Amino acid sequence: MTELLYLTDSYLKEFEATMVAVESNRVALDRTAFYPGGGGQPADGGRMLWDNGESQVIKVKKQEDQVWHGLDVEPPPVGTPVRGVLDWEHRYKLMRTHTALHILCGVIWRDYGALVTGGNMEPLAARMDFELEHMSADFAQEVEEKINAEVAATRPVKICILPREEAFQIPDLIRTKINLLPESIREVRIVEIEGLDMQADGGTHVANTREVGTIHVVGHESKGRINKRLRIALGE
Ligand SMILES: [Zn+2]
Repeated sequence: MTELLYLTDSYLKEFEATMVAVESNRVALDRTAFYPGGGGQPADGGRMLWDNGESQVIKVKKQEDQVWHGLDVEPPPVGTPVRGVLDWEHRYKLMRTHTALHILCGVIWRDYGALVTGGNMEPLAARMDFELEHMSADFAQEVEEKINAEVAATRPVKICILPREEAFQIPDLIRTKINLLPESIREVRIVEIEGLDMQADGGTHVANTREVGTIHVVGHESKGRINKRLRIALGE
């Protein structure tokens, strides 16, 4: 089982670990800061270094309890100590973008009572779908003003890990369908934008909404009678 260092410290850019499994050109470590993708957030890339060797980390993927890192050279043997170095520019953009999406869904829920039906992100660009009947350029403009007000409000973003039973007591989490989590998950990681949004979430986020920077609503589309899409883009 890989210890997931990014769950408690999303600002970790480098880490030491030990190789615990090798399968052709991919390796598993005892601990990793590489995000393996999931919840709409793409996987990290970067480099892995060891005594007399190094490789790009090209494909990071979680399978059951283990995170696999694809290398572009032949891996050293199991037991080798390694250093992982994240492509931080890429990851930090994703942290800002992921947090922007939480601001967006927090505002849409608070002011319009609409739930999220889907979403996806790449560095500095994302889309999110909502259970909304109406959508217009004016609405998109209004949302843009509201989400930037939340960035300007410098709201802290806090992470905590709670026992399942405790998390299930939090009313704000019910709307995010926390009750659909498999019974096997005994602890729930909660990402809270203070005063705005709370979600069960395994992704990486910035520590304060101010780090997101200006958010532009760059598109709006209808995806069905009660399904409307907003597209956002962040500044560099
Ligand atoms: Zn999220």
